[in-house]
This record gives sequence, C-alpha cells and structure tokens, in this order.
Amino acid sequence: MDRKDERIEGLVRQLLVELGEDPEREGIVRSPKRIASSLKFLTSGYAVDVGALINGAIFTQETTSMVILRDIEFYSLCEHHLLPFFGRCHIGYLPSGSVFGVSKLARLVDVFARRLQLQERLTEQISHAVMDSIQPVGVGVMIEAQHLCMMMRGVEKQSAVMTTSSLLGSFRDNVATRQEFLNLVNRPRP
Ligand SMILES: [Zn+2]
Repeated sequence: MDRKDERIEGLVRQLLVELGEDPEREGIVRSPKRIASSLKFLTSGYAVDVGALINGAIFTQETTSMVILRDIEFYSLCEHHLLPFFGRCHIGYLPSGSVFGVSKLARLVDVFARRLQLQERLTEQISHAVMDSIQPVGVGVMIEAQHLCMMMRGVEKQSAVMTTSSLLGSFRDNVATRQEFLNLVNRPRP
C-alpha cells in the first residue's frame, strides 16, 4: 500500500466522522480501506495511456462495411456528485483501411468511464479516440445511461434514461450512413 492509499483512507475516515459515524465501529472499521481501493479501481482510467492501449489493437483490413459494437456495458462516476451513472454504449464506424480489435473497443469505453465524467464528455472522448486512432470515414457513438444522482437525490426520477450521441465524419454529414447506424443500434436484441 502506498502513501496515496493511506491518505485516501484517512480522508474517508474523517468523512465518516463528519457524517456522524464512529469510524471504530466494528461494521465500518475496515470501510476506509475498502473505499480507498474501490475508488482507486473506479478511477483507474486516469492511469491508462490511451495511445498505448490502442496501439496494439489496430489491424489493416480493406473493408468498407460499417462495424458496430453495441450494448457495451459501462459504469462511471458523475463528476458533480461522485455517484454512479451506468448504461450501454454503442460504437459504429466506417473503416478506411484499418479496423479496431473488438475487445479493445470495449476496453476503450472502460478507460474513459473509469474517470470522473460527464456523459456528454464520455461520449465525445470515445468517438474522438476512435477517429484519431484509425481515421475511419466516420464514427458514431451513442450512450444510454441512468444517473444515480438523479434517481437517489435531486429530482428523484427513477426511469429517465439520458441519451447522448457523438457523430463524426460521414456519420454526421451523410444522412444514409447516420440512418444505417441508428437502425443497427436500435434493431431488436437477439
Ligand atoms: Zn451527478
């Protein structure tokens, strides 16, 4: 355990006291340690170099068919409340010479999701990372998510799903391409 973990543990212990808890109480005496390690995992995306992650995952492939990976589950923390938001991410792109290793596409979502986030920014970071790394003709990313900061507190709306999309290149400029992406993302689950 490094010094940083110890500092986070100390801060969590202090937070428990401020909230009216007894940090020595049997049930929570180990909670600062658990919370520190949980937070470390949930924000582990900061320590990942996106370029290095992507580098080994690009393959030369002459195809012009749209590639879609949908229903990528993710869990993130909203930067305003540090409460979870979670849902599904759909990624589509039209290759021009290179394609992404499919598991790396899912990993890319995790890298950005495991940081303090806004859903809008998460969506754009994913689309730009795909665009910058394989320069496809176009990219579309759509995220559908539920926000605990809205469900547990605030407006207390339980079933609102927020949808964000980021469309680049032909996904933005070409109506038929955009429509193909939306149709593929929205078609019934197998
Ligand atoms: Zn929030």
